[in-house]
Amino acid sequence: MEKKEIFSQVIHMEERIGALHDELGELKEQLAMLIEENQALALENKHLRERMDEKNQSNKPIKPKKTLKDHPNVGEGYDNLARLYHEGFHICNLHYGSLRVDGDCLFCLSFLHQK
Ligand SMILES: [Zn+2]
Repeated sequence: MEKKEIFSQVIHMEERIGALHDELGELKEQLAMLIEENQALALENKHLRERMDEKNQSNKPIKPKKTLKDHPNVGEGYDNLARLYHEGFHICNLHYGSLRVDGDCLFCLSFLHQK
């Protein structure tokens, strides 16, 4: 094989590797998005199940679990709110109960740190 031929083969291979690398990067991005979406859905599902359980329990004669709605003021609900926030939900007035998709929320944080 001529040196020139080998050289062009190496160049060609380099291009293919580059293309594969790009493709891999895209796949990784898609995978990350899917994982994120899956996590969000799992959280939402969990949240909905908890709410369903709370509703079912409140139908029974057992003393119903106090919910955040009964305690609009920061008090014993604080731990609950902190937990909700760390599970990925908004606890601020603006987006209360919805999933935090953009990471930390300044409104939530200032609310949490009021105490
Ligand atoms: Zn928020």
